[in-house]
Amino acid sequence: MNDAGATALLLTHGDVPPVHEYNADGDSPFLFTSDHYGRIIPHALGDLGVPSSELERHIAWDIGIAGVAERLSDHLGVHLIAQRYSRLVIDCNRPPGAASSIPVISEATAVPGNEGLSDESKEIRRREIFDPYHRRIDEVIEARLHRGQPTVLLSLHSFTPVYAGVERPWHIAALYQRDRTLPPLLLQQLRAEGDLVVGDNEPYAVDDATDYTIPVHAEMRSLINTGIEIRQDLIDDQSGQQQWADRLARILKQVEETLRMEAVI
Ligand SMILES: [Zn+2]
Repeated sequence: MNDAGATALLLTHGDVPPVHEYNADGDSPFLFTSDHYGRIIPHALGDLGVPSSELERHIAWDIGIAGVAERLSDHLGVHLIAQRYSRLVIDCNRPPGAASSIPVISEATAVPGNEGLSDESKEIRRREIFDPYHRRIDEVIEARLHRGQPTVLLSLHSFTPVYAGVERPWHIAALYQRDRTLPPLLLQQLRAEGDLVVGDNEPYAVDDATDYTIPVHAEMRSLINTGIEIRQDLIDDQSGQQQWADRLARILKQVEETLRMEAVI
C-alpha cells in the first residue's frame, strides 16, 4: 500500500474536510463546538443503506443547530469548530469503541452500511473524521490557553421533540457533569426568561461512557463548560434559528458578565 492509500481510504477528492471553522479569529471567552453539525456521508459509503428521508431526520445530525451556532457566533464573536459528517458515519461525541459510535441502529432505523464492519473500517472512519475534528479542538484550546485567552467551552446540540414515541417538554437544556460554575448560572438565566421549559440534565446528562467532547476537552482541563441542547422543532427554520440565536446571545452576554464579575474568567 502506498502512502496516499494509507492516508486517504475514506475521504477522497470529492469529499469536503470534516472540520468546519467559523469566526476563527473571534476573541470571545466562549468556544463553541458542534459535534453533530452536518449530515454529509463520504462518497465511498453511498447512503449507508439508509433511505434519504431518514437521512434528513435527527438520527443523522442535530437539526437546526448549524444555523443557531453560526448566528450566535456572529453575535458574540465566538470561534465555532464544527464537524460536517453525519453522526451515522461516526458519532463525534461518543468514545470510539462505544456501541453508539458507529451505530447499526439509531432510534428504530437500521443502518446496514454499519453492520459487520471490520476493526480496520472503523479505524479508518476514526482516523479521517473523528480524529481531525478532535485534534483541531485540542489545538485551538491549547493555543488559547498558551496565550492566556479565557476559554469557556459550550458544546452545542439539538434534540428531537419525540424520541421512541415519548414527547419531550423542554425547550432548551443545560447538560453537564463535573462543572459547578457555568451550569447553575446558565440554568438560572434560562429560567429567568419566564417562558421556557428548561431541562436540567434532561433529556440526558453528560457521562464519560456516552460523551466525548465535554469530558475530554473541557473536564480533563478543568475548563468551565456546559452542553446546550435546543429542541429541534423550535429551530428547524431560519426564523426560529434567528430568534434562538438572538435570545441566547443576550443570555450569554449576561453569563459572561457574571463570570467576569466572579473573576473566574
Ligand atoms: Zn448532538
